[in-house]
Amino acid sequence: MEIAYKVGNGLYVNLTNKCSCACVFCLRQGDDKVGESDSLWLEREPTADEAIAAIREKLQAFAYSEIVFCGFGEPTCALDVMLEVARWVKANTTIPTRLNTNGQADLINEKQVAPLLVGLIDTVSISLNVPDAHRYQALVRSRFGERSYDAMIDFAKQCVSLGVKVVMTTVETTISHEDEEACRRVCQSIGAHYRIREWVDDGK
Ligand code: SF4
Repeated sequence: MEIAYKVGNGLYVNLTNKCSCACVFCLRQGDDKVGESDSLWLEREPTADEAIAAIREKLQAFAYSEIVFCGFGEPTCALDVMLEVARWVKANTTIPTRLNTNGQADLINEKQVAPLLVGLIDTVSISLNVPDAHRYQALVRSRFGERSYDAMIDFAKQCVSLGVKVVMTTVETTISHEDEEACRRVCQSIGAHYRIREWVDDGK
C-alpha cells in the first residue's frame, strides 16, 4: 500500500482513507492516485512506524522541499499517527511540514486540535471553497452539516493565533470573482493567507 508518494518536489503522506466529507469535487470519486503514486486506496491505515519507514525510504532518493500530510482522506482522521510521524520528521529532518485539511479536525476528534500542531506542523492548508456556510455544506457534504463551516473557520483562527501559518484555498474557475474577493476578506479577517489554486495540483 502506498503511504508516501511524490507530488512535484513534495513528499506526500497518505495515512487514511477516512473523511468527514464527501465533496462533490473529490478526486477519489474518479481516480485512484495523485502525483507519482500508483493507488492511494489503503488496505488498512498504516501505523506511525510504517509511515515513518516509508518516509525514510523515500527521503533517500530525493531532496524533498516539503513533507505534506494529505493523501486520499482527511489526515486528521488519523490524528495520533499524524502527530507521531510529524514528531519524527521534526526530530530527524529540517524539511518543513504541511497539513492539507478540510479544517474539521475539532469536530472529527471532539477536541481542540490546533494546539497539538504547534511545533510539528509548519503550515496548515485549509480548503475554504466558498465564503458561506450554506454553499460550503452543499459542496463538501460534511457529516457534521452546516456547522462544519464555522468549525473550519474557528480551527483556522486558532492555528493563526498559535503562530501556525494558515493558507486557505479556493479552486480557480469554480467561484465568481466576487466570491473570491469575499473569500479574500474572510482570510484577511482571520489572518490567513488566501490562495486560489488550480483544479488539480496536490489533490486537496
Ligand atoms: S475533504 Fe478532501 S478527501 Fe475529503 S471528500 Fe473532500 S476532497 Fe475528498
